[in-house]
Amino acid sequence: MNHICYIIAMQAEAQPFIQEFQMEEVTGFFSPYPFRLYQGEVDGSRLSVVLLGQQHGTDLVGCEAASITAMAAIQGLAPDLIVNSGTCGAFKADGAAIAEVYVGNAVMFHDRRVPGDDEWGTQALGNYPLWSGSAKLAEALGLRMGKVTTGSSLDLQPVDEEIIRQHGGQLKDMEAAAIAFVCSLTGVPLLLVKSVTDLCDGGEKTYDEFRRNLSAASHALRDANLSIVRYLSRSKLICRTSRS
Ligand code: SAH
Repeated sequence: MNHICYIIAMQAEAQPFIQEFQMEEVTGFFSPYPFRLYQGEVDGSRLSVVLLGQQHGTDLVGCEAASITAMAAIQGLAPDLIVNSGTCGAFKADGAAIAEVYVGNAVMFHDRRVPGDDEWGTQALGNYPLWSGSAKLAEALGLRMGKVTTGSSLDLQPVDEEIIRQHGGQLKDMEAAAIAFVCSLTGVPLLLVKSVTDLCDGGEKTYDEFRRNLSAASHALRDANLSIVRYLSRSKLICRTSRS
């Protein structure tokens, strides 16, 4: 049986999906870490949703929490595929719209500036591999694809914007590359599913726009993920020996 493991930063992003699939929480699985585990079975596939959990009374977001969660999920659950589902910023200039759902076709960091030779630069940017079936899935489900770039901040600073533009970044988040880093070390394939909460070049304050659109973007994520899980289960595309 395929085991699909979602890694999702915020409870609000995951809740519509957890409810739809009537998933049960498995308490204490990752103790003493704050990560939360929900499990269920859909169309013959085992489904896990792992949330980063909370600290300081708020949902953990960002690269540090995302990478240790990914490591614990891989070690504790041995999934066949990881799906990082979450919200992101995008660009009006690319024709992006609020609550539009994308599948990632590349992933890198946009805020790790390490001067040096090509190898150090390559390490800083990441550019990790994604699941080889991502494009087929996006095409089958009619989802747009885009390059995800990850950093540790919600706002967009000019220095980050320059790197994003230089590398053709389209979707800006705070977790994808950190999870991709762990997946690249372990060989577990990764699929990125991102829903737009804010337009980085839209002129509005990112935080306000993010809060206003979080619910709509999370419901769009649920709808896309329903199709994605059914597609993955039906097509039985994943198998541990054909990772990339
Ligand atoms: N302060 C927010 C916390 C969320 S941080 C709150 O009050 O709820 C933003 C989260 O959404 C991160 O998990 C990140 O991956 C994603 N995100 C959405 N829009 C983003 C953007 N423009 N830039 C970076 N991350 C973004």
